[in-house]
Amino acid sequence: MKQEICWKESEACWDKQAVIAKKTCPIQEHASTSKVLFIVPGEQRFLRLRGATWLFFRKGGFRFIRHFLFHPFSCLFRYLRAFVKKSCEQQDDYFFYGTTSVKHFINLFEDSILLVGFSYCQKPLECPSKRFTSDCAADFSSLICQQCIIGKAKYLFKSDRAFITIIPTVKDIANTLLDLKGRFPSRRILFLIATCELAMRMFAEFAAALGVQGIGIRLHGRFCNTQTAFKLSERGIKPGRTSFEGDAETQFFSLLQEWILTKFQT
Ligand code: SF4
Repeated sequence: MKQEICWKESEACWDKQAVIAKKTCPIQEHASTSKVLFIVPGEQRFLRLRGATWLFFRKGGFRFIRHFLFHPFSCLFRYLRAFVKKSCEQQDDYFFYGTTSVKHFINLFEDSILLVGFSYCQKPLECPSKRFTSDCAADFSSLICQQCIIGKAKYLFKSDRAFITIIPTVKDIANTLLDLKGRFPSRRILFLIATCELAMRMFAEFAAALGVQGIGIRLHGRFCNTQTAFKLSERGIKPGRTSFEGDAETQFFSLLQEWILTKFQT
């Protein structure tokens, strides 16, 4: 109860400061793209195959191939099974990987390690640490950081069994998941990641193969909905911003709060 009050007070304090910062030095908001399709028709074809090619047969992909070959009965088998089966379930902006609902995801918190991932395109265009990088100074005295969702998460969410990361490329998040599996071999690895639908569908099998479970929250704004946009984004060419829409941000922070409460009770 004390932890809950503490979280609510800290969040209210952050939100109040963010309003003041916005009035003093507003960051650029994302342009609305409410009528834009999340994946352009025609780009759906061979999506998963393209994901596999992108991950395994480009620079740095050897690490994943080697991991799969060393674990043929777990990783390789799960990967191939995920290819023929549905590897994630969608409910509006939420994509469930090895989980069936938000409640189910929360029930897995105990004894787990959590990876919280933001896409780099969620960073403000004015980010003092630059955009196409996993760096984040999280300078709470900066008017820019005070309006940034990543800054808010870093301010509120501190747990020795959870990690916040910013994702420049798909390979970076795949490597981070592999690192966590190596570091915590006996723990369940969970993830809570914000990204575009295209990427979530392209790489769903990889999550299934690693045996990690989690939720992906779909981003709005200037997301990638074609292969061309995705490839440019992977090279850091992404002039627009993305963000949560509707109640996704509230839900996202509720999950972080729930994690803290669970860890405090165990
Ligand atoms: S909190 Fe991090 S990501 Fe956000 S603006 Fe500051 S340095 Fe950039």
